[in-house]
Parts: sequence; structure tokens; C-alpha cells
Amino acid sequence: MYKIAVAGTGYVGLVAGVCFAEVGHQVTCVDIDENKVSMMEQGISPIYEAGLEELMQKNFAAGRLNYTTDYTRAYKEADAIFIGVGTPEQPDGSANLSYIATVARQIAETIEKDCLIVVKSTVPVGTNDKVEQFIYDFLPYDGEKYTGNDGKEIRVEVASNPEFLAQGTAVRDTLHAERIIIGTESKWAEEMLMKIYEPFNIPIVSVSRRSAEMIKYASNDFLALKISYMNDIANLCELVGADIQDVALGMSFDERIGSKFLNAGIGYGGSCFPKDTKALKYLAEQHGYELKTVKAAIDVNTEQKTMLYRKASKRLITFNGLKVAVLGLTFKPGTDDLREAPSLDNVPLLLDHGADIFAFDPVGADNFKRRYPEGKISNGSITYVDDVKNALDGANVCFIFTEWDEIKAVKPDEYKKWMRTPLVYDGRNIYELQGMRETGVEYHSIGRSICARLSKPNAKEIDSNEARLQTTR
Ligand code: NAD
Repeated sequence: MYKIAVAGTGYVGLVAGVCFAEVGHQVTCVDIDENKVSMMEQGISPIYEAGLEELMQKNFAAGRLNYTTDYTRAYKEADAIFIGVGTPEQPDGSANLSYIATVARQIAETIEKDCLIVVKSTVPVGTNDKVEQFIYDFLPYDGEKYTGNDGKEIRVEVASNPEFLAQGTAVRDTLHAERIIIGTESKWAEEMLMKIYEPFNIPIVSVSRRSAEMIKYASNDFLALKISYMNDIANLCELVGADIQDVALGMSFDERIGSKFLNAGIGYGGSCFPKDTKALKYLAEQHGYELKTVKAAIDVNTEQKTMLYRKASKRLITFNGLKVAVLGLTFKPGTDDLREAPSLDNVPLLLDHGADIFAFDPVGADNFKRRYPEGKISNGSITYVDDVKNALDGANVCFIFTEWDEIKAVKPDEYKKWMRTPLVYDGRNIYELQGMRETGVEYHSIGRSICARLSKPNAKEIDSNEARLQTTR
């Protein structure tokens, strides 16, 4: 078993650290955020992930897992240091590597023995070469050899080990991953990473560092492309009278296509697909190449995110003074993460146009409140409620942005019963059309026909009302 340090305790770093401890390694998780470290020391996870807190508490109690802001001791003692800090998007679409550089420098200035540095963060192809060079630039050098800070010769190498977990199922995805990708440039690094991962009993694909870096982007961007493709086809389905869910079902039987990631909706969000598509496009541009497919995925996604808002704007005269129920704020269920969530594109538009929003999200509301505090904002207002009924009560219109179970549990007739006008825009295609049609909810979804357009009583009803009036005259 190895002594492992993990830099960064976000979704990737903390889950990796906890899972390394779970299989028996001695792990120290390092973060610069004192608040996070103090929460973790008390057994509280700073992020919402199923099963994470239990494993944190179990491995902390077993003495295999520690947390610290003091990177010096953690890095000095480690056989391997995994880097899981953020690589956020910069305004030009490129990845911000400053957090990685900071950690690399901290490592160079502290280590005292042979150490494998493993980059888990998603980084553009070629970054690991630069990280290795950067570490050597700051390692003590006595004119003949590189040494640790205690003067003894040391060997440092950087390996790539991109992460494929999905938020919401991060612990399961790590302990039972479909594959582990390792990118190394020496037998020493390859063998050590293989040994670290041996207890997981998961197939390992061992390639060069640059190929490993590319596998991560190529995989994420392929999935983003698949989503955007289905959204593009969904928009066409609406125009030609086909149903995207039937189309997806028919496609899913083809093993070459696969059955996952075929759901149309209001676009992908989260901390990965949006930035990773832009970063790969940027990388291609830097090499004089236009990555047309990835560009298309980005363009479709940008339009898709406000698709429902635009539909509703055409349908209603104004949002001014309307009670608008917003169901779901996070970019997907099972996480409290709001990064690039479609709600963040739509809520400001609704507020600017005077909507009085009543928002429900079982986990993400607190994070959303930090950006949009309760009360008057722009021309509208926002109120956070803790159950779906309170959001829908007396509402003029409802938007569904995240398919949380609590939202899926609302029955079609409850929209009819609770809302002032049962007008629903569903960005996740939660409902069968028939149920909404039979209940009389005006239901707009993605890539399917509109149900039961609300209107004044139809001709037949008017006739019979007229007849009733006549008989009572
Ligand atoms: P995150 O923003 O949730 O966490 C990053 C953490 O690093 C923060 O807690 C921050 O305080 C800490 N940090 C910053 N500088 C530090 C330093 N010098 N020393 C120690 N800690 C430091 O990030 P994340 O979502 O876990 O993503 C990390 C990387 O993994 C990114 O490159 C991302 O693209 C990639 N990735 C993310 C996911 C995902 O689902 N979130 C999946 C696969 C890959």
C-alpha cells in the first residue's frame, strides 16, 4: 500500500482520495480552503455525492484518511501525489492551468524523495510534459543532479490519469469504473500506477501521456456531441411531426449507437462538457485545425439552453407579474453543482422580464441563493420554496430544468389542480404526452408535439353552454 497525497478536494480529488483510502492506501487530502478542510475533519462532505460521507467517516476512523491545508508535510511524505484541482474555462475558451501550476510549484519546493505526480484534472494535450518540466525548473539542482529539499538525489515523474466519474454517481463510478486510463512515459511510473490501482480490480488501459490526455477530451466531447445531435434532431422532430422519444427508442436498439445519452433536453451543463468542448476546439485552433464537429456541438447546446424560454416568450404576452414555478436548478439530479446549469441561463432572462419566480430544488437551492438572493432582482423577484407544491401553487407557468425524483413524482393532475394556469415547459421530457393531454395540461417539451393547448372553451362547449342558457331562460 502507498502513501498518497491528493491536491484538491472537489468532486474529483475528494472522491479519489476517499476511494484510495477505502482500498487500503494511506491518504492525505490537501486543500487551500480552510473551511472545507475543517468540515471534512468533522466528517462532513463539502460536496453532495451519494455514499461519500459514509466512506469519509469510515476511513477517517480507520486512520487511513486525513485532511490538511498544510501541503508541505503531505507532499514530503507521499509516494504519489494526485492532482485534482480545477482547470476552469478562460474567456477565450482555453483551460486555466494556473491552479495546476501552483500545485506543481508547491510540490517541487517541498518533496524530499522519489515521487510520482499524477494529473487527474482534465488538461489539454501536452500539459503533463509542461508540468514535469515546470517541476524540474523549481527542484533544487546541485549542478549535476536534481535533489529534494534535503539535498538527496530524487526522481520525479508526471503521469496522466484522467477521471471519468459522473457527478451524482461519483463514488460508484470510481470504485466500479469501466476502465482506468493511465498515461506514462516510463516503466517505473506505469508499474507504480498499476500497483496503486491493483486493489480496484478494474481494467487498466496504459498509453502514452499525450494519448491519455486526449482520451479524456475525446470521450467527453463525443458525449457532448451525442447530446447535441439528439437535441438537433429533436428540434427537427417538432417541425416535421415526429416524436424524439420514439426516435431515440428506435435508435437505441442499434449496438453501434448504444442506448445511453440519447435523451433530448435543454442542453448539457456541468463543470465538464461545456469547458472541455471549448478547450478542445481552442487546442485545435492553436494547431491551425478547425474541429467542426465539436464546434457544432457547442453551437447547438448554446441555443438549446434557452429553447423553452423562447417558446414561452412566443406563447405569452409578458412574464411581468406572472408567478413562474422553476423546478430544478442544478445541471442534473444527484448533485448540488450549478456550474453551467440551464437554470443559470433562464432565470436571469425571466427576472429581466418581470417574472416572480418560485424556485424549488431539493439540494441546489442554497448554492443558487448565493448568486440570486431571495427578494427583488432586476424587474422580478425570486422566492425559494422547500416543496414542489409551494412552487406550483397559483403559478401561471412552470419550467422544469432538472429531473429530480421529487419533481418527477408530481402527477399531471396536480399541475392542473395547483396551478392558476396549467402551462408547463418541461426541459427534461419527464412526462408521457398522453397523461398530460388527458389531464388538460398545456405541456411543451423537447422534440414532441404540444399537448392540450389551453384556449377559451371550444365551439362544442360554447354551443352546449348556449343551449343550457336557452333552456334556463
Ligand atoms: P472543484 O472545483 O470541485 O475542486 C477543486 C478543488 O481544488 C477546490 O476545493 C479548491 O479549493 C482546490 N484547490 C485549488 N488550488 C489548490 C491548491 N493549490 N492546493 C490544494 N487544493 C487546491 O473541481 P472538480 O470538479 O473536482 O474538477 C477538478 C478537475 O477534474 C477539473 O480539471 C475537471 O475538469 C476534472 N474533472 C471533473 C469531473 C467532475 O465531474 N467534476 C469529472 C472528471 C474530471
